[in-house]
Amino acid sequence: TNLFYTNQISNNGKTTGILIGLRNKSRVQELIRPKIFDGDADSCIINTQKEIIILPQKESNLRLGTYIKKNKDSEKKLNTLQKNINAYSKCIIEVERTNNENLIIVYVPLHINDWGLITFLPASNLRGQSAIYMKKTIYTTIGSVTIFLVLTILSFLVYRKNKKMLQKVVFKDSITLGLNETAFRVLYHQVTKRTKPNTYTIVLMNIKNFKLINEQFGTEHGDKTLKYIYTVIRKNLKKYEFTARTEADNFFLCLKETDQKAINERLLAIVTEINSFNAEKENPFNIIFYKGAYILDDPTIKLKIAQGYASSAYRVAVEQNTEQCIFYDKSFTEKMHKEHEITSLFEQSIKRQDFKVYLQPKIRLEDGRVGGAEALVRWHHPEKGMIYPNDFIPIFEKNGKICQLDQYMFTEVCKIISEWQQQGRQLFPISVNLSRQHFRINPNFLDTFYEIAKEYNIPNNIIEFELTESIFFETSIFNTVKECIKKMHKLGFLCSLDDFGAGFSSLGLLKEFDIDTIKFDRQFFIDISTKKAKEIIGSMIDLSLRLGIHTVAEGIETNEQVHYLDSAKCDMIQGYVYSKPLCLDDFEQWINQMKNNIE
Ligand code: C2E
Ligand code: MG
Ligand code: MG
Repeated sequence: TNLFYTNQISNNGKTTGILIGLRNKSRVQELIRPKIFDGDADSCIINTQKEIIILPQKESNLRLGTYIKKNKDSEKKLNTLQKNINAYSKCIIEVERTNNENLIIVYVPLHINDWGLITFLPASNLRGQSAIYMKKTIYTTIGSVTIFLVLTILSFLVYRKNKKMLQKVVFKDSITLGLNETAFRVLYHQVTKRTKPNTYTIVLMNIKNFKLINEQFGTEHGDKTLKYIYTVIRKNLKKYEFTARTEADNFFLCLKETDQKAINERLLAIVTEINSFNAEKENPFNIIFYKGAYILDDPTIKLKIAQGYASSAYRVAVEQNTEQCIFYDKSFTEKMHKEHEITSLFEQSIKRQDFKVYLQPKIRLEDGRVGGAEALVRWHHPEKGMIYPNDFIPIFEKNGKICQLDQYMFTEVCKIISEWQQQGRQLFPISVNLSRQHFRINPNFLDTFYEIAKEYNIPNNIIEFELTESIFFETSIFNTVKECIKKMHKLGFLCSLDDFGAGFSSLGLLKEFDIDTIKFDRQFFIDISTKKAKEIIGSMIDLSLRLGIHTVAEGIETNEQVHYLDSAKCDMIQGYVYSKPLCLDDFEQWINQMKNNIE
């Protein structure tokens, strides 16, 4: 729909420049339409190859094959016309039409690109009018086209004058003073237009905790850092490669490289150079990057999508907390779709109470009675069936919905306890799991939980919160967690350290945090048969006893494990050896049966 044209600027026969113009085709179509002859005349613009540049606006009469009588005379005249067009010179011919009327064809070079205006006039129409009139028509048309094009060229000149300024606004990033996202897109289209698959790679680099740099040193320093990073990246690029800061601390690179190892090495070199400013510093401040990449296996792909792929690879790098560049593969998209689906099902399910409390008993080794239970969530989706926590908890951790779910589970547990209380059942502590997101998102969550417990008249020390071990290693929430544990006790809740032994297993935690119970992860007991394993577990339990901390062994499946834990004086056991997590009805039945067996 747009026309692109050029024209030489000459001075004394010498070419001094070339003007470039871009115009809307329909405007030119309107201009070249002869205004007289009751619409019987037509004009169009063609080039010297006789390719049509602009057709008349309306459905054209110019179907010449059926229009002009085929005879020697017309063939000869049309030949002359062709020669003149080839030679780019003016020409007028008159040929006979199929309806025996004559047709006048006028060709006039426009001297813009290699275009010429060709006009068809019915001679009968002309008979009543003078040849001067015909000339006038053609020249008016040429005149208006030329004026129009000249005006366009003039506006282009103004544009060119302001081009530098425009470029600044359109393509320059105000912080790095380098390329911005628009420039990146333009270059991306240029390099990928004719490239083969697997030639280029789109890389996303993002600074770990850039927020902290801004907070610690101020945004001015943050901006300087971004500019500096841009300069270093740029310096390390090869021909046909480019980079841009797109938003915040996102740097996109387009590398002409597809070997994963080579890319990782090049990125490592960039990061090393970025951190070289630390060389002489006593307290180095290392800038760490997470990196994701998408090897352009389909160069026709839109940039937004390519960037999306690199971003999803980047998110995996964040999740895995690795400084290695992660390369996108199709499974990422599938995983993302699944995450999307799970997320979209949440709201309705929580309203519909699809999430159920399952209880798994904890057995006291001392007397074989139930000493507690852990509430574990199960998702009974009407269409998807039963979904287990490992398939949705990590997703809800990511999108923050876990806080809502934990509070829901807590409320359901309060309802159960309240019910048991009214039935006169003997109560024992029930533990609920708490996600780290509470400490990150809303450190005051305990106030709400306390209100709910009060509403259901929950006695003190009957609800226990399980905090997974890795929470204690998150430095950013260290103090919050510590304060929250103190507050839990003040509000009448207990607190246990979950999954001890699955990760860091630091004894320092016992000193720093005021916890009531340690839950040893099943990992601890998998090879309980070796002497060394027994010694370790034995002394851990010993130490806990001395510190007045209760011990629970989790994931216990065999009698051998039970015997050993009994001899080591572990307080309680939770595991399939006694029972799987059960729905409320089954759990109550299980408890009744247990009571009968013992009494
Ligand atoms: P967890 O808190 O460590 O819970 C113990 C897990 O071990 C449960 O898996 C339980 O079914 C399983 N288990 C118990 N005994 C045995 C055994 O003898 N052998 C084996 N192999 N496994 C056993 P589940 O219910 O699938 O829960 C997995 C994790 O999901 C939990 O680990 C907990 O971290 C999380 N989770 C579950 N419910 C909730 C919840 O309501 N909120 C939060 N934030 N997390 C939850
Ligand atoms: Mg737990
Ligand atoms: Mg656990």
